[in-house]
Amino acid sequence: MSDQPSGQRVLVVEDESNIASFVAMYLKKAGFGVIVARNGEEALARADSESPAIVLLDLNLPDADGIDVCRELRKSSDVPILMLTARDDDVDKIIGLEVGADDYLTKPFNPRELVARVKSILRRTVPAERELESATIAHGDVHVDHGRREVTVADVEVQLAPKEFDLLWELLDHRGLVLTRDQLLERVWGYTFAGDTRTVDVHVRQLRRKLGDSCPVVTVWGVGYKVGPEAKVAQA
Ligand code: CA
Repeated sequence: MSDQPSGQRVLVVEDESNIASFVAMYLKKAGFGVIVARNGEEALARADSESPAIVLLDLNLPDADGIDVCRELRKSSDVPILMLTARDDDVDKIIGLEVGADDYLTKPFNPRELVARVKSILRRTVPAERELESATIAHGDVHVDHGRREVTVADVEVQLAPKEFDLLWELLDHRGLVLTRDQLLERVWGYTFAGDTRTVDVHVRQLRRKLGDSCPVVTVWGVGYKVGPEAKVAQA
């Protein structure tokens, strides 16, 4: 029995055909439709023409770096992206470069784990879009419109990556509470993101860089993060 709506398609971008067919087999068994692309160019074309629900993207492709493909996809789409990488070192690259990937898995991976991650990412993205139509939160100089996914500081729009936006929203939506890194991983990424709390710190750092002194996120040493008092610091 599958708890996925039928017809949800997964775009698998993988040049190693044995891995691609192995992954496709498990995904089909779980009730997904599967589209396979063998290089970066094909990936971008199929993502555009087939509107997949999620993209599994190998980091090492014959014609392109998966990181560049991820960035390119992000220019036109919010489709969830799960990166597949052969090396642990690449994980730092995926997190650090802020390419907009939603998650990663290191090869060799357990196909059941892969299917579980795909389901988890989809569970998180689908209802979130429906629930929060047009909620907005204003906090000092910072104004966040969830429906439009827009952030402004003193009326100037700031571009945030999808997860930066979700993290800021989660903290603002729980003003007055301290959230631990594990709680933030759970709420923003939907499950324990490979147990790696560095992800939260990297995203907080990006928020601080982009929002400057108006960034409302305060570190609570030894615990996690919270939203500080309202402040109007930006010069109009
Ligand atoms: Ca490869």
